[in-house]
Amino acid sequence: MFESLTDKLGSALRNLRGVGRLTEANMADALKEVRTALLAADVHFKVARDFIDRVQSACIGQDVLKSVTPGQQIVKIIHDELSALLGEGTTALSDHRPLRLMMVGLHGSGKTTSTAKLGRLLKKRGYSPLLVACDIYRPAAIDQLEILAAQEGLGFYADRHSRDVSAIGKAALDAAKAGNHDALLFDTAGRLQIDTDLIEEIKLLRTRIQPDEVLLVADGALGQEAVNVARAFHDAVSLTGLILTKLDGDARGGAALSIKAITGVPIKFAGTGEKTDAFEPFHPDRLASRILG
Ligand code: GDP
Repeated sequence: MFESLTDKLGSALRNLRGVGRLTEANMADALKEVRTALLAADVHFKVARDFIDRVQSACIGQDVLKSVTPGQQIVKIIHDELSALLGEGTTALSDHRPLRLMMVGLHGSGKTTSTAKLGRLLKKRGYSPLLVACDIYRPAAIDQLEILAAQEGLGFYADRHSRDVSAIGKAALDAAKAGNHDALLFDTAGRLQIDTDLIEEIKLLRTRIQPDEVLLVADGALGQEAVNVARAFHDAVSLTGLILTKLDGDARGGAALSIKAITGVPIKFAGTGEKTDAFEPFHPDRLASRILG
């Protein structure tokens, strides 16, 4: 998904890399090209503007125009600023046991799939996960989670008759204790848009289960809209991390770059396909290198 950004930044940076002497004018041109590449990749305009400002100050601070290899130095500054923008070393999950993870997000974002993917990953890390179905509105979502849990050999808890999500959460905590599960993943209900009922329900559940992490599952292909979704959920339930899904699709990468900058919430995992193994911890510095080609 970062191909278009890589392409566009690549040509801006290729021009810079080989430059022996750099003037203020062609440095300004190069930074303008970088800014255009960011905007074309759907990076939020404020994030792009701040990014260029920071790169510019670093260039002045490090006196790159007088350097022997000014082009390479600017590329290094851009790399460092890009890593900083994506967040450094922030992708680890809480190591609290039992680990309580609350998954939130809009309907269709990939929440249920990501719950199973994360359960699978935690099992590999030695946990005994219990997937908890908290979507009382869509029986199909409960069935989907149950099928995925069975497929991955994970514990599953649901109460198809209850209408009280926080009671389900509490009962799941007891079930986890009885079944020796040391990681609980609560798959909450999603709506097509953020509404007050949804928010009230997850707030109540949050209070009842006291999660170690509240993870927002957001569709990477939403572009800048993903930033708004993240901001709204963060205001309501204080997110601790983000899972950005569908990065295998036609997402242009801008959301990944903007979300951390705007909400301060780190991206912890990336979903890269429909299968349960298409899931990986998010590495900001590696991504910065990939984007810069
Ligand atoms: P929910 O409504 O948020 O629980 O969403 P689901 O987990 O049911 O996912 C909605 C659709 O997105 C399903 O068809 C999933 O297979 C698909 N999906 C989820 N994550 C990814 C991903 O990382 N990449 C791709 N290509 N599809 C995904």
